Amino acid sequence: MFPELTKLGPLAVSPLGFGTLSISPLQSSLAAEQGAELLCYAWDKGINFWDTAEIYENYPVLRAAVRRLQGLPVIASKTYAYTAEQAAAAVDKARRELGIDCLDIMLLHEQTAQTLPGHREALDWLATAREKGVIRAVGVSTHSVACVLAAADYPEIDVIHPLYNMEGVGIHDGSCEDMATAIAAAKAKGKGIYAMKVLGGGTLYRHAQAAINHVRSQPWFDCAVIGMSTTAEIDCNVALFQGHAPDARTLLQVQGRRRFLHRADWCQGCGNCVQACGQGALGLEQGQVQVRHELCVLCGYCSRHCELMCLKII
Ligand code: SF4
Ligand code: SF4
Repeated sequence: MFPELTKLGPLAVSPLGFGTLSISPLQSSLAAEQGAELLCYAWDKGINFWDTAEIYENYPVLRAAVRRLQGLPVIASKTYAYTAEQAAAAVDKARRELGIDCLDIMLLHEQTAQTLPGHREALDWLATAREKGVIRAVGVSTHSVACVLAAADYPEIDVIHPLYNMEGVGIHDGSCEDMATAIAAAKAKGKGIYAMKVLGGGTLYRHAQAAINHVRSQPWFDCAVIGMSTTAEIDCNVALFQGHAPDARTLLQVQGRRRFLHRADWCQGCGNCVQACGQGALGLEQGQVQVRHELCVLCGYCSRHCELMCLKII
């Protein structure tokens, strides 16, 4: 358990949140009961915050877990809505399919400084929904330094969910230091911060302790969400977020788990990653990259060259 919850905007969350992309059809595709069991296990370990998104298509998994819990978790979801109607439909769908009256956080998904103004109507609707108590907080998720800086100036936004890790893997427009500076500026303007991809989409898993210690030591740190798909990963990350080493057996289980490079469906076939792979493990076929797993050494270099974060070690 965590000794205390931390403040994320108007909410109280555990410093480690559960990134549920890992148990969605986009990644490990766990059956609803299996995924729910994992979320309940994490809850028992003190993780009270779940991060999802409309496109993860895993609301039924979260709903199954909510039904089994004694208390209510804090749930954040994300939408690409840009009109008021789309925002209303996204919030309605989340509440209905999650089986909850009030959604804790709705974020505008994958924003940049350029796209954010185009979502004005959706943002205004979300701010009004917050006033009516339909949601508790409004946020944005982003891989961009410029977007963090832009979002910091929107009074409607309570929470920012930026990509951040010690090597800057996946940041579109700057280094780890640039992102840390932007996040600190946003935090100074009162925004709650929960970091994503602190393990670089799996590429830093061999350095998990250093990566987690790095993010926890940031002065702006409120919380980070990590995708997990086994109980050993939960135990390991809970220990690391509590500031101590996991026990040897758990570490062995996590490090001994068979991992592979997963390429997401939204690959655009640009080929940047193919050039970056010195092992010849990537090739383009039918407009998308294909992984030759027998050649892949899981170094994670390719994922640093994919702006769309299509490549993850899972
Ligand atoms: S860099 Fe990303 S989008 Fe481009 S081919 Fe590779 S996986 Fe696909
Ligand atoms: S993880 Fe490393 S070896 Fe595997 S495809 Fe990417 S660059 Fe190549």
